[in-house]
Amino acid sequence: MEQYVISFDEIRALLEEKQYNEEDIEELERAFEFAKKLHSGQYRVSEEPYIIHPMEVVKILIGLMADKHTLMAGFLHDILEDTDTQPEEIKELFGEDVLNLVQGVTKLGKLQFKSTEERQAENFRRMFIAMASDVRIIFLKLADRLHNMRTLNYMAPVKQQRIAQETLDIFAPLANRLGVGKIKAELEDLSLKYLHPDKYYEIAQLVSQKKAERDMTVKLLIDKISQDVKASGINAKITGRAKHYYSIYNKMNRLNVAFHDLYDITAVRVIVDSEKECYEVLGLIHSRFKPIPGRFKDYIAMPKGNMYQSLHTSVIGPRQKPLEVQIRTWEMHEIAEYGIAAHWRYKEKGSQKADSANDVKFSWMRKLVEYNKDTKDAADYVDSVKLDLFSDQVFAFTPGGDVLDLPQGATPVDFAYRIHSDVGHKTVGALVNGRIAQLDTKLKNGDIVEIMTSKVAAPRLDWLNFVVTKQAAQRIRNWYKKNKREDHIEIGKANLEHELTKTVFDEYIKSGEFEKVAKQMNYVSVDDLFAALGYGETTINKIVNRLKKPQKQEGIHQHKPRKASEKDIIGLEGLLYSFARCCSPIPGEPIVGVVTRSKGVTVHRLDCKTLENIPVERLMDIQWSGNNINKTYSTTIRIETGERLGMLKDVIGVISDNNTNINSANVKSKGKVGIIEVGIELDNIDTLRKVMNAIQSMPDVLSVKRIQTSFNQAPQQFTKKNGSKSSKTSKR
Ligand code: MN
Repeated sequence: MEQYVISFDEIRALLEEKQYNEEDIEELERAFEFAKKLHSGQYRVSEEPYIIHPMEVVKILIGLMADKHTLMAGFLHDILEDTDTQPEEIKELFGEDVLNLVQGVTKLGKLQFKSTEERQAENFRRMFIAMASDVRIIFLKLADRLHNMRTLNYMAPVKQQRIAQETLDIFAPLANRLGVGKIKAELEDLSLKYLHPDKYYEIAQLVSQKKAERDMTVKLLIDKISQDVKASGINAKITGRAKHYYSIYNKMNRLNVAFHDLYDITAVRVIVDSEKECYEVLGLIHSRFKPIPGRFKDYIAMPKGNMYQSLHTSVIGPRQKPLEVQIRTWEMHEIAEYGIAAHWRYKEKGSQKADSANDVKFSWMRKLVEYNKDTKDAADYVDSVKLDLFSDQVFAFTPGGDVLDLPQGATPVDFAYRIHSDVGHKTVGALVNGRIAQLDTKLKNGDIVEIMTSKVAAPRLDWLNFVVTKQAAQRIRNWYKKNKREDHIEIGKANLEHELTKTVFDEYIKSGEFEKVAKQMNYVSVDDLFAALGYGETTINKIVNRLKKPQKQEGIHQHKPRKASEKDIIGLEGLLYSFARCCSPIPGEPIVGVVTRSKGVTVHRLDCKTLENIPVERLMDIQWSGNNINKTYSTTIRIETGERLGMLKDVIGVISDNNTNINSANVKSKGKVGIIEVGIELDNIDTLRKVMNAIQSMPDVLSVKRIQTSFNQAPQQFTKKNGSKSSKTSKR
């Protein structure tokens, strides 16, 4: 094998040229030697010693004027992945900041992007930025990718295609977003070379053929305007070059034209000292050459989202050749080439000590947002602000490599509903990074989530407690609405059967009478009509009044159940009902109706334990009407007290003070604790709360509870025993 001489000298020369100080250079050499030792005996596919790769990466980063830690991380960026080095060792030798950078690059390196969809690429880029908590990690990654692209010819053709496509989809746009025009252009051109080699070489050849012509054009332009420029006292550097290949390729594709028909493959660049001079030079050029209408763009007044600034114009240049001209200051030029890195470098140079790591980390984001406050270009603005907002997002993978963007706190259920509502509905479990995870687990960036489904599964209402996407919540609710439709139809039917008797109901069904009524009432089907009745959209009376009276009219009346006279409750119009003794509901608290075979509807508290055993089709959605003035409702409370004489009397006193009737009272003792159970009548839940609070604040009272009596244990039983006031049960 060929012998390589690997030394730090070349890099030292570069560093000195860029004026890195001697102390920093020594530290960098230490990192270099460390990496060199660890990578020794390792070779790249090109058969070069492995260390050549990190060295080249560092050279690219020096070109971006990266800070010392980034350069150190550049040397070390592959050692966690490719050698046995432990993170602690890096931390000890080079500090925590360098370790964070190396770990960041290693983490990003593990991401595999497989999808071919553009939408997915955008998500991936965003995830990338979100995961690279520090922008320097992205620069490291870009430099790493750039060198890998430069040496891609050693790879197998299949790999070349995949890597080139990924570079074009992910890394070139990332470079563009960070404003690093130089790297973006090279990445694009290298990608083109592997993805469409024929086009690449065709364009390369044509561009080189036109070189002489291009040089001539630029020379003529300089001749024409340099006099004027000098006369204005402006110091300008004018250069001309072909646009990069990929942008030519793009233009040919977009405009569907051949190379020869592209008129502005030459870009002339004028660099001056001040912003004012940019506009002066623009004026000079426009007065010498005819501007092409619609091509002038002022990116100085309105910078692009990635901070790019320049004046762009196209003119009919010397020899009637159209030319694109870019005019910018030296500083704008640096930003166009190095993007955010240029800013970060200015910052570093100015006050290296004063900047905390955080300042460096976030200043670029702030800068981007600042820049865009003045921008009218909404799309660019939104794009850049997104950068800042990525911290509110989580990006997770499907096993197939698609990236889904979810809000922070999203769970596997959110993820499942994002894939498809059917997947959501059928979810029974989830694997996160190959391990079984709770469905309410909060997902992290880069998690690979596999949803386990079952054909017979259904969404659960308690998912609503932890899902964070509106989409998931809405779909769970909709499922319940839709699937409860069957229940509502059953309830509606049951109500009508009750009202009309089963015989008459069946007759109406047979004769098609319900169908007529449904049409009259603008329902599509009889089921819709029943469902509407079931969930209270219409009433029994409205339906019954439209039904053609059957011949045996009297028969209906005979079988008609008795209607309750009061209207305590909405949803029970015309129905016989009573309040359940087990839970004694009181106006103001959530209730539900239970359809019984013989006694009409029983009204329960929604939290009544007896409901657990009642099939859902017998439940009715009902509400308190608010017409409960001057009516009272019964309930029972249990008070635990300390031992004290006269306790019962005091309790009764407090209850009576609050405008209530006492139906029953029962005292017993259990060890040192006295138990008082009082049956009371009152108007609504607020009064009950007042009473309970008043009792609770009495001295010697340990607890106050509302109790449920069981069906077969009516309050009378203990009132009789104690011989207190006669009791009324809640028959209404
Ligand atoms: Mn690498």
